[in-house]
Amino acid sequence: MGILDKIKSILPKRKEPELKNNIPKEKENIRKTFGVYCHKNHGTEGDKLCPKCTALLTTIFIKIGRCPYGIGKPICDKCETPCFGEDTTKEFRNIMSSSSKKMLLSHPMMTIKHKLQGLGVDYAKQERDKKSTDKQKEAEQKVKNKLTNAMKSPKSSKSKSKSKRKKK
Ligand SMILES: [Zn+2]
Repeated sequence: MGILDKIKSILPKRKEPELKNNIPKEKENIRKTFGVYCHKNHGTEGDKLCPKCTALLTTIFIKIGRCPYGIGKPICDKCETPCFGEDTTKEFRNIMSSSSKKMLLSHPMMTIKHKLQGLGVDYAKQERDKKSTDKQKEAEQKVKNKLTNAMKSPKSSKSKSKSKRKKK
């Protein structure tokens, strides 16, 4: 066995790039946020949630496990096609947004990471929208330019006349 082979056997094998599994972290974030919300609004304490919140959380966790986006899914608060159904999604988003301030105080790192993930989704959406509406925007821009030119022209002629006066 040559030296090269020995070195190769010692070196760690190159790993395939792994898809990051976002689900455990997101579940943890949602569970904590539900805790904050339920303690405040339904008078529960510790790890306990009231029956209603427990049921809602259970439904959500089951749906997250079946998310069609898989483990690289966008966070549920930003998802365009949430699987929870309309009413549950409304309730879920209400809980997530109304408790975000409290979450920031009690779990700052987790909340900030969650926010950043949300921003990433927003950015991806913006980029996609940019591409799809480029032509539309161009047309809008033309109209805007016309309008601003129409607005500017009387003013600019005035300022020109002023500057002429100054020169004199
Ligand atoms: Zn509750």
